[in-house]
Amino acid sequence: ARPVLEVHDLHVTFRTDGGLVPAVDGIDFAVAAGETLAIVGESGSGKSVSSAAVMGLLPGNADVTGEVLLDGRDLVGLPSDELRKVRGNDIALVFQDALSALNPYYSVGWQVAEAYRLHHGKSRDASKKEAQRQAVRMLDLVGIPDAARRANSYPHEFSGGMRQRVVIAMALVNNPKVLIADEPTTALDVTVQAQIMRLLEDVQEEFGTALVLISHDLGVVAEVADDVLVMYAGRAAERGTVRDLFHRAAHPYSLGLLGAMPRVDVPPKPRLTTIPGSPPSPGSISTGCPFQPRCAYTERVGERCITERPELTPRPGEGDHEAACHLGRRPSDA
Ligand code: SF4
Ligand code: MG
Repeated sequence: ARPVLEVHDLHVTFRTDGGLVPAVDGIDFAVAAGETLAIVGESGSGKSVSSAAVMGLLPGNADVTGEVLLDGRDLVGLPSDELRKVRGNDIALVFQDALSALNPYYSVGWQVAEAYRLHHGKSRDASKKEAQRQAVRMLDLVGIPDAARRANSYPHEFSGGMRQRVVIAMALVNNPKVLIADEPTTALDVTVQAQIMRLLEDVQEEFGTALVLISHDLGVVAEVADDVLVMYAGRAAERGTVRDLFHRAAHPYSLGLLGAMPRVDVPPKPRLTTIPGSPPSPGSISTGCPFQPRCAYTERVGERCITERPELTPRPGEGDHEAACHLGRRPSDA
């Protein structure tokens, strides 16, 4: 299937008093209707900045270059009123902090209805009624019990998990083609996390939404993603299917992430913090491999890791699987 969302050579640089700070240094990805792409990496890897760039939600001091094609139409450089029409309508975002996404002073039903009216005209009373009807339908669809009555409740009257369901209802009320979920379950306890992920999968199946899931939780990624992009220091370290990543990871950083995953017989709480060292800020390493200071395999390659930046390269005989590493062989066979 032709991708709904295609990102080509995306660069994001922030202009600050201290100079130019690169955050995303040339990444590519694509996702088709009904498919899920997971973007994984530590905080500071550029994954959230990338999603904000796709949504056109970066502050004014951010320079964005590259292409963000939604159904073939480039969103980069679109005037802000045009972009507002796209955002929340064709492409929507759910992020970690449901509380800050909701207004404490309005009922949840009003807020979902408002998200609907924003893209369906506000003037007529008829559309107001229709918006309320749509809001209740969405709240019901995301699993708010007794939705017609609960639509009148305020955010603080809901649990964290229920609030995240409301935010998902807001994001989906205009049936977007693309949903970007940035750590959508991080603030929730494990049982509720699983329920919310199941909900996202259900709505994806029902509406054929293309889902971009930004996550540090490889357990979740293994369960829901079709394709995976591993980011490190603003660049792609590895890209492939979920099978490529979990069965034939080719980049030492990916292996580190997998090694940091708990075993299945231990209660899950994968954290990406067990690889020694910390990631450099994007752009701070001008030559060589950004992962070199932390890489356990660099001695096998030698100087090249310091002098030559590895580009994403196809893995022979492995379809679209690509890694940005000078190690020719799979690290585990080396
Ligand atoms: Fe490690 Fe070198 Fe591969 Fe970078 S290019 S990940 S330093 S082996
Ligand atoms: Mg899926």
